[in-house]
Formats: sequence, structure tokens, C-alpha cells
Amino acid sequence: MHYTGRFAPSPTGPLHFGSLLAAVGSYCDARAAGGRWLLRMEDIDAPRAMPGASDQILRQLEAYGLAWDGPVLYQSTRGDEYLAALEQLQAQGDVFWCRCSRTELARLGTGVYPGTCRAFTTPRSDAAIRLRVPEGITSFKDVVFGPQEESVARQTGDFVLRRRDGLFSYQLAVVVDDAAQGVTRVVRGADLLDNTARQIVLQQRLGLASPTYLHLPLAVHADGSKLSKQTHAAPLPVPASPGLLRQALQRLGQTLLPPEEAASCADILSAGVANWDPRRVRVEARMAPGETQSS
Ligand code: GLU
Repeated sequence: MHYTGRFAPSPTGPLHFGSLLAAVGSYCDARAAGGRWLLRMEDIDAPRAMPGASDQILRQLEAYGLAWDGPVLYQSTRGDEYLAALEQLQAQGDVFWCRCSRTELARLGTGVYPGTCRAFTTPRSDAAIRLRVPEGITSFKDVVFGPQEESVARQTGDFVLRRRDGLFSYQLAVVVDDAAQGVTRVVRGADLLDNTARQIVLQQRLGLASPTYLHLPLAVHADGSKLSKQTHAAPLPVPASPGLLRQALQRLGQTLLPPEEAASCADILSAGVANWDPRRVRVEARMAPGETQSS
């Protein structure tokens, strides 16, 4: 089957070093396989979007030579497709309407939805829509993290597809869009490893093929905390810093050419593609104490 990969940033802020790992890893994996590499802007969550961040992300990717194929897909334009998927699930009896508040559910302290509203199968506007998760074990083999299994029914329970305020959930949007874009391999950060079983359950209910999955180690600070906007990870500089691109490939365990042989971003990336070996990706990519991200 022909390979189609994608990078799917959420425009809640500019890309930082942690996002560069996901972008570079998915780019190299796709290009090394002779595949397409698509870009999807996950801007469904309007309240969390930062004005201008989408355009800033495009400029950052361009600056680092991460050229995507075809037009950018914006999730904010995809409401009709998400609704169609919900209608299909509704027709199959796979969803119900839930009015439990977050506080009520948090009080249970289990993190697993207890099935409270499962009987409510008539649409209502003041309720969230949840997937009725079937019993059973979902298993898949991650290219880096190996065999994974989860009972989504027992470990997560019926999860939200559309929030009470009308926002479509990340799980629904990602599954509908990966299928619509013909994505065959998902390469993304390991913070989403534990979302994958939910996405596979949803693919199965919608009759969609599952892509294969490769989760990349997260860049973490020396104390183990994740590099993120919340922990003030610096935006990737533009014009590009070839040193950061080298650091990203190095952190993904890849063999690098000496700087005198690959000095520009274009050269570093094409060597990254030529030498890409997912078996070398390590499970954790810890920053050394005091290491800056701006070399
Ligand atoms: N938009 C998600 C993020 O930026 C990534 C989604 C995915 O790759 O499935 O964390």
C-alpha cells in the first residue's frame, strides 16, 4: 500500500522543540518510505487557538525545510464531515446523550465513565454525545513502543465525541480526518499513545481501516517534565537554526553526518531521510540539565 503520513499540530501556539521532534520524525519516516507527508491544522478548539499561530506554524515548517504535500487541511472547515460520522454512529445505535457534569464525574475519582446516561438515545442539544464503547480488548503494535493493549470499556469507558457546548472532540476529528486524508501511518508524540486504542475503537465502529502507529519519545526537561507551552518551551526560531534540527534528529536516535557535510537545514533533512531508521528511536529523549533549546 502506498504510504501517506501527516503532521497535525494544534495552533495553540508556535511550534517548539518538542513539536519539531514530531514534525521531523513524521517527515523523515514518510519521505524515507517514498510516501506523501500531509499537513493538518487541528484548529477545532477555537477557544484554545492562539490568533496567528496557524500561520506562524506554516512559516516555521517552511523555514526548517519541512515541505508538505498538497493543501493544508483545516479542521475548522470539517464540521459537516464530523456531523456525518456522528449521524452514522447514531443510526447504528453507537452513541448516547450525556448530561453528567465534569464535577460529578471527577467526584467518582476513577477516570472511567460509569455508563450513567447510556439509556439516553434521543438527541438533545444540552448534552454531550458519547460513544457506547463495546467490551473487548483493543490491541495494536506500535513501531517504537511495541505491542499495546487496552480494554477501552474498562480503562476509559464511553468517551466524548461532541461536547455539550457543541465542540467536536479530538478523537472524532482525528479519526474522521486520518481516514479522509488516506493516512496509512500515524507518527506523533508519545503523549498520544494512550489515545490510540480509543481511536481504533472508533475506526472500527465507523468501518474505517486503521493506520499503523509510530509514537515518538517526548522531549522532556532534565527533571522529566514534558517540554510544552505550559513549561515555557521557546518557539522555534525563524530563520531556522540548523543546530536545532540536528539536535532533533539526534534525540530521535538517528545517525548524523558531521556538520561540515550537512550544514544547511535542507542538507541535514535530506541526510535525515536517507539515514532514517525507526529502530534507532529511543523511548525517551531527555534534555541534559541546563541544556538550552536555542543552540
Ligand atoms: N493535534 C495534536 C497535537 O498537537 C496531535 C494529534 C495527532 O497527531 O493525532 O498534540
